[in-house]
Amino acid sequence: MIAVSACLAGIACRYDGKDKEITKIKQMVENGEAIPFCPEVIGGLLTPRNPAEIVGGDGDDVWLNRAKVIDNQGIDVTEEYKYGASLTLAKLKELGITQIIMKEKSPSCGSCAIYDGTFSGKIKDGTGVAAALFQMNGIKIISEFTI
Ligand code: SF4
Repeated sequence: MIAVSACLAGIACRYDGKDKEITKIKQMVENGEAIPFCPEVIGGLLTPRNPAEIVGGDGDDVWLNRAKVIDNQGIDVTEEYKYGASLTLAKLKELGITQIIMKEKSPSCGSCAIYDGTFSGKIKDGTGVAAALFQMNGIKIISEFTI
């Protein structure tokens, strides 16, 4: 069994209330081959919600307390993002899941690319908060870019 970012499976859990469906991933969930998770929703954030970006680094830096997750209203949502990532990791471990296909550019799920923290649409190399935690704990991240 593999996990997937829920928005890639067609679940409308993104900050804007929409999904980012990839047909192949949706079919994997429908066929019982994959389980969808949204770390932000699992952490208690509402849908829709304000967009947020990592300021001062990437997901690894967030866990080292060198960067924060800030929404577009300037509200610090770092703890909510960390909480959702931690709960999701616990669930993955409980289910014995060791691989997850994740959505790029997300401050939670990005594994290669994230927005640069300026809300200008610019992308930089780096991980999201959940992806960083999963990697630290031996979960294999598969980028949506490679699907
Ligand atoms: S946190 Fe991950 S699963 Fe949830 S909407 Fe963002 S990219 Fe998709």
